[in-house]
Amino acid sequence: MAQSEFELIGRYFSRLGAQRSDVRIGVGDDGAVLVPPASRELVVVTDSLVEGVHFPPGSPAASIGHRAFAVNLSDIAAMGAEAAWALLALTLPEPDEHWLQQFARAAGDLCRRHGVSLVGGDTTRGPLSITVTIIGIVPIGVALERKGAQAGDAIFVTGSPGDSAAGLALEQNRLHVVDPMSAQILRDRFLFPTPRCEVGIALRGLASACIDISDGLGGDLEKLCAASGCGAEIDAATLPVSDALVTAVGRELAREYALTGGEDYELLFTVPLARLGAMTQAMAMGLGPATRIGTLVSGNGVRVSARGGVMQFSGAGFDHFAR
Ligand code: ADP
Ligand code: MG
Repeated sequence: MAQSEFELIGRYFSRLGAQRSDVRIGVGDDGAVLVPPASRELVVVTDSLVEGVHFPPGSPAASIGHRAFAVNLSDIAAMGAEAAWALLALTLPEPDEHWLQQFARAAGDLCRRHGVSLVGGDTTRGPLSITVTIIGIVPIGVALERKGAQAGDAIFVTGSPGDSAAGLALEQNRLHVVDPMSAQILRDRFLFPTPRCEVGIALRGLASACIDISDGLGGDLEKLCAASGCGAEIDAATLPVSDALVTAVGRELAREYALTGGEDYELLFTVPLARLGAMTQAMAMGLGPATRIGTLVSGNGVRVSARGGVMQFSGAGFDHFAR
């Protein structure tokens, strides 16, 4: 991009996020130089947001800035790592100062909160698209994986899945909600998801497997099951649906949103029965809200019991809950 556009980058991205002593050279040179911690492993994740694909055209810049980093922080959390350094590849139709300011402020707030320093990136002109890469740090051998869970392990989920999908439906005028307060809560869950970074770190040594929910609880649980070579049984009545979601769409549809919605960026994880005590203790010490929703079983696939019936998850979704 032209010279004046570099000045914009310098203004908004040269010191974004936390200032870390392990960044020897950050934004401004041909590459960043980082000082890796001794005797640790690095976890590297990347995720793109494309306008019209991952967020509706015209979404607030603050939301886009927040989500671009939140979705990557969520992957770092799902691995049990501590986020440290980030790269930002930004493609913009034109450099709009107000847009950049809002984007950078939201991204910077989130990065500072999680101790992440932006150390480099790239800026090009084109249809709006944002790719963030985050590098995290984890003690050797303790990173959480999708595999490793076994039949008998308890299944937990953080937060209240389904809110974000309802929020997106509201943003796209596919859903109409009478109660304005509930509608606002749901929109905010889509626009500003909370990556569960502290939970991911607390789950080291406790969880047998972990995944973050980007594609919907049911589908992501299927992935965890496939990686671990087992099946899952969950009880729809135990799904932690929020009051806002129940107010907005009713309890039955709320459970469907929770199972099939997506973009939740909650953690879905399993705990062996022998570690349930330690897990309860960790939750009491501030691990945060996590709800047991079922149990892993031998076999494969995800079954959901609801109202006395049992449904099989089918990849795309579930059948409507039986009357
Ligand atoms: P080069 O042409 O050598 O690749 P650039 O002119 O693209 O360098 O970038 C100059 C500096 O600004 C580099 O340190 C690069 O990492 C940083 N940078 C460019 N765009 C961004 C961005 N969107 N976010 C963070 N850093 C950026
Ligand atoms: Mg260069």
